[in-house]
Amino acid sequence: MRILLAMMKHETNTFSPVKTDLARFEAWGLKRDGDVLEAYRGTNMPIAAYIDLAEEREAEIVSPVAAEAMPSGVVEEEAYETLAEWILAPLREERFDGIFLDLHGAMTAAHLPDGEGELLRRIRELAPDTPIAVTCDMHCNLTKAMVENCDALIGYKTYPHVDMYEVGAQIGRILWDKIEGRSDPVMAWGASPLLAQTLRMGTADEPMKGLQAMTEAEVSERGLLATTLFGGFPLADVHHAGLSAVSIADGDQAAAEASRDRLLQAAWDVREDLVYDAVPIGTAISKARAVNDAPVVLLDHSDNVGSGGTSDVMRVIEQVLEAGLQDVAVAAVYDPEAAAAMHAAGQGSEITLELGGKSDMQAIGLDGRPLSLTGKVAHVADGRWIVRGPMYTGVEVSTGPTAVFETGGLKIVVTSVHHEPWDTGILSENGIDPQACRFILLKSRIHYRAGFAPLAKATFTLDGEGVTTSDNSLLRYEQLRRPIFPLDPEEEIDVSQDSPAEARS
Ligand SMILES: [Zn+2]
Repeated sequence: MRILLAMMKHETNTFSPVKTDLARFEAWGLKRDGDVLEAYRGTNMPIAAYIDLAEEREAEIVSPVAAEAMPSGVVEEEAYETLAEWILAPLREERFDGIFLDLHGAMTAAHLPDGEGELLRRIRELAPDTPIAVTCDMHCNLTKAMVENCDALIGYKTYPHVDMYEVGAQIGRILWDKIEGRSDPVMAWGASPLLAQTLRMGTADEPMKGLQAMTEAEVSERGLLATTLFGGFPLADVHHAGLSAVSIADGDQAAAEASRDRLLQAAWDVREDLVYDAVPIGTAISKARAVNDAPVVLLDHSDNVGSGGTSDVMRVIEQVLEAGLQDVAVAAVYDPEAAAAMHAAGQGSEITLELGGKSDMQAIGLDGRPLSLTGKVAHVADGRWIVRGPMYTGVEVSTGPTAVFETGGLKIVVTSVHHEPWDTGILSENGIDPQACRFILLKSRIHYRAGFAPLAKATFTLDGEGVTTSDNSLLRYEQLRRPIFPLDPEEEIDVSQDSPAEARS
């Protein structure tokens, strides 16, 4: 048996000005050929499950590339074509018994709105009879091209995503059963005219908790091979952005379709709860101040680098300074210039900075606006540390030259590399004890929960500015299919038309 496995992942925020070139994939740790197995064996990634299943069977493994980049703007054509060609090249040379892919599902390239659909179409063209398995992120924007050009597709059921290996193992086994003639997976999929918001997709909370429990029950109680409810990725101005479902049954198309319909109906029934209710920032800060326990976590969720944010929008920090909150740790502002200036000045020195605000966000009509602040360089570091928390445990993080700027009751971690604060190391490795803070202000949305939820005595969302905003009025959608909930009046939306039958054809 000879199998091909590959990873090519990016969550594309089409509103983000952050460049996505091949260097951004390399910065994350792009691996080729034999290095792929060495880098990913034993990790919590889908590709690691593929490796384990293939090695158990002593299959010959061809692994041309494993590439991922931090979420950001559209993938440059050259980067997309380079990565895709690395995957396609071996398929031109040899015959494979199976293809196992670790994808995201919301990749948009400059020349292609549906990055994964096109990749799978090209693979299928070269290997029309080879069974193909695909894992996607929960934030996948599913398309017909994706489903029609593979044999078994599945997504994560947790957010923060802690079940990546498990999901890879589940779909990997389904494909091996097909390869070895034990089963006949058939898929049914559909999309809903529903643009759910990422901030409302945490699986510790309803409604996602219940919806994901339902996907598990479809397997354990109704006998489906696998089912997935994708929340979708709303910060993508592409026709197909939004919520979707895919169910896999063993040879029984009607059973797969019925399962898909149950999932989409259940999500539509709770659509109101998949939309974030804005809170005036002054109200949120007052409520946070009234909490008598510490630390209290504050979320600058509109500038979340983990969904393509620039991580240098200063609006919420400005408001927190103006409100006079004291003993606030802030993670993290991306500003290589400021970090370099603090390194040059040295720990303990007084400094005036034009902090953050270096990125213009044309797509949402927002210019970068730095904050002029005077304070002290409280700490400098090289930005390298090992994760000890539950997400990416044991992995070395690099935030580049990093420094802590102390000003007006705030200690602001300033980095030279984009970093979403999902682990407490971003504070503790920079001389700040997170347990001892009164407030912790994080540029994050849901992933902060991995490291910070166990400490947080209370959590408040602060509605600021940035390309990960949950304020739909700021996002100028031009390609997105309409009408769609909640952007358009509900009476204009015909659910029976768009979902699920129509969306499939
Ligand atoms: Zn995701």
